[in-house]
Amino acid sequence: MRELDCAEARELASDLMDGELSADEAAAVEHHVATCPTCPALYRAMVSVHSQLLVQRPSAGPVPR
Ligand SMILES: [Zn+2]
Repeated sequence: MRELDCAEARELASDLMDGELSADEAAAVEHHVATCPTCPALYRAMVSVHSQLLVQRPSAGPVPR
């Protein structure tokens, strides 16, 4: 598996949240986040921002009625 540096991991993480990565790329990002001392906090912040964006975008998911 290719080792990512932090800048690459962050770029790929945003693509990962958009569902645009292959399984290999997604695994590389997860491996980096699991082994890097600084990325987990950043990654969690990105995930939380991203899920808020999804909530604000009504067309992104099923609308409960
Ligand atoms: Zn990192």
